[in-house]
Amino acid sequence: MQKLSERINRLAESATLAMARMSRELKAEGKDVIALSLGEPDFNTPEFIKDAAKEAITNNYSHYTPVPGLDELRNSIAKKFKRDNKLEFTKDEIVVSTGAKQSLANICLSLLDPGDEVLLPCPYWVSYAEIIKLAEGIPVEISSSVTKNFKVSPKQIENAITDKTRMFMFSSPCNPSGSVYTEDELREIAEIFKKYPNIYIVSDEIYEHINFTDKHFSIGTIDSLKDRVITVNGVSKGFAMTGWRVGFIGAPLWIAKACNKIQGQVTSATCAIAQKATEEAMNADPKIVTNEMKSSFLKRRDLLLEKLNSIKGIKCNIPDGAFYIFPDVSYFFGKSDGDKVIKNADDLCMYLLNSCYVALVSGAPFGNPECVRISYAASENNLLEAAKRIQIQLEKLK
Ligand code: PMP
Ligand code: GLU
Repeated sequence: MQKLSERINRLAESATLAMARMSRELKAEGKDVIALSLGEPDFNTPEFIKDAAKEAITNNYSHYTPVPGLDELRNSIAKKFKRDNKLEFTKDEIVVSTGAKQSLANICLSLLDPGDEVLLPCPYWVSYAEIIKLAEGIPVEISSSVTKNFKVSPKQIENAITDKTRMFMFSSPCNPSGSVYTEDELREIAEIFKKYPNIYIVSDEIYEHINFTDKHFSIGTIDSLKDRVITVNGVSKGFAMTGWRVGFIGAPLWIAKACNKIQGQVTSATCAIAQKATEEAMNADPKIVTNEMKSSFLKRRDLLLEKLNSIKGIKCNIPDGAFYIFPDVSYFFGKSDGDKVIKNADDLCMYLLNSCYVALVSGAPFGNPECVRISYAASENNLLEAAKRIQIQLEKLK
């Protein structure tokens, strides 16, 4: 009998990766698909980072490394945390993993017991909820909307806290809304958590360098939370290194040790060559590396926002970071193209994919079922063409 575990049956497929898979399938059939579904920079990894990897191969970095990462890499990450974020970590408080995705899984598996609740301000990145469920925790959504710039208030957070709350997990800049919590807002949120010493905060800062306000603030610098913040980061977004699979955490030693223990049994360390490349990325001035990419993203954001805002029924906030727009599309729910009624954002995404070959992701798995996510990590031509196609198709809905 082919019987899968209940654990895997409970797990949803990653919505971002599912949409990327469907667009690849349509492309293979010869369809002219514009994929704005996957969140990855459309830039190549900078040459100096690639050179470091080539050198690592020549120098025989072909062996297992220590499970939490090479000493020299963790020392570089400690310096980066200090330089960019004013965070103090020793090498042993840093664990390098196979992408920030694994870092998040390590944290949840290390800290959550069955039934523990994790507060997720909406919208949140799709994999948070599923990783929490994999660790037998319970995701608890805190709602938000486009009119609130997709941010939650300290009061909303406090209202969601129960005896079972173990963790608060968020990203700023946020995937998928692009919202950036300011230092003041994070300090106000920290005031709430001061009263609840058993709640741990997971601060996912993977879009740190794609922040158009240029003011990134790390909640882990706030004294009252120092011992309970786990800062997650990686090279996928800021350094255009999605395929290298390197993410990392800075955490209190006992949590870092637990993550190390899990990783030691599941994957060992990440690829030695990718670690050497990451060391080079960490030592570089991030402003120089990411400036060009950031200004392209800003230009594209403005271009796409202008087009989307001219479509009747679409409501956007102005994202301050990352490379996504997360419009409210609920105006179209209940409308039909004469053939099929669009009931929700999932239907709208399938309608756009199948009728005009533009791939977006439904907001439902991000906690905002009235929205869709559009990645603008694509060429200006593709963005303009996609916006045109979207407009034509949406205008057919009556
Ligand atoms: N956090 C957020 C908010 C993300 O958007 C992503 C995207 N992949 C990740 C974590 C994981 O990144 P990676 O595993 O590529 O380091
Ligand atoms: N984080 C990206 C996204 O949100 C990459 C895909 C994934 O890992 O889910 O699309």
